[in-house]
Amino acid sequence: MAYAAPVSYVRWSSPGRPHEYDSAVYIYDTDDGVECCSCLLYPADGLGDLPSHLEATPGRMIEHVRAHIAAGHAVPDFVIPGLAAAEGAREAH
Ligand SMILES: [Zn+2]
Repeated sequence: MAYAAPVSYVRWSSPGRPHEYDSAVYIYDTDDGVECCSCLLYPADGLGDLPSHLEATPGRMIEHVRAHIAAGHAVPDFVIPGLAAAEGAREAH
């Protein structure tokens, strides 16, 4: 499974700056799987930093995204279809 380039499925929106969608999550491919950067589902550490959440595949990240939605976090509508498409492309290789 080789990706031509790192893929980000969604980036954070920046309050106060123009953006096309509202997103509380930033999810992208890494060499180890798919990462949810500085995940809001985790408590912050003493410095106020949030750990990142790693799933092995885009398909597995979908359940994690659903947990964000259930928690009331802003997640654009295209994120789950994008992850599902990436999972399908991955299985085709
Ligand atoms: Zn997360």
